[in-house]
Amino acid sequence: MPDSTMRPGKIVCIGRNYREHAKELGNEVPAEPLFFLKPSTSIIADGDSIMLPEQSERVEFEGEIGVVIGTRLTRASESEAERAISGVLAINDVTARDLQRKDSQWTRAKGFDTFCPMGNVAPGSHDLADLTVVTRVNGVEKQRASSAEMVFPIGKLLSYVSHVMTLEPGDIVATGTPSGVGQLARGDVVEVEVMGVSKVSNPVEARA
Ligand code: ZN
Repeated sequence: MPDSTMRPGKIVCIGRNYREHAKELGNEVPAEPLFFLKPSTSIIADGDSIMLPEQSERVEFEGEIGVVIGTRLTRASESEAERAISGVLAINDVTARDLQRKDSQWTRAKGFDTFCPMGNVAPGSHDLADLTVVTRVNGVEKQRASSAEMVFPIGKLLSYVSHVMTLEPGDIVATGTPSGVGQLARGDVVEVEVMGVSKVSNPVEARA
């Protein structure tokens, strides 16, 4: 079990929310937001190791902008949803890509222990349309995008999810990854940064 102080009730992740990323994996952009859950047991903190599981031959990083819910949201409007955000953080939605392709849903591919590195939460209000996420592997930049490029903006995503499931204080929403995803190998160090806001850096190890 990863050691972390963060234990949200749920982590909601958005899929295919950047046009170029959907394309690089051979997918269309969805007509409505596509979302799934990651278990809170997948969370690790800055500096903790991502463990490559023996069940997968291709584990990839996905740098994402995360938001923390501060106020309960049920069937909320977009503006209510935006006002309910209590902080922003960097998230790495680590994914066993081969298992994701094999399975009809993504719980296994996205849910391994250590598959959700989370950075510090930057509290307060942020310009949600002007956040930049950058991913680096061994210091080399692999992903960079602005939240302005999202297919569905953050307020819309939260509103949409809240019409399905109540979002509670402490819940985390990861808002999708831009293009440039790639494989992680043992010995790599992967860093996701929401520029000027939050950063999480993790070494990669293989399970014995
Ligand atoms: Zn993702």
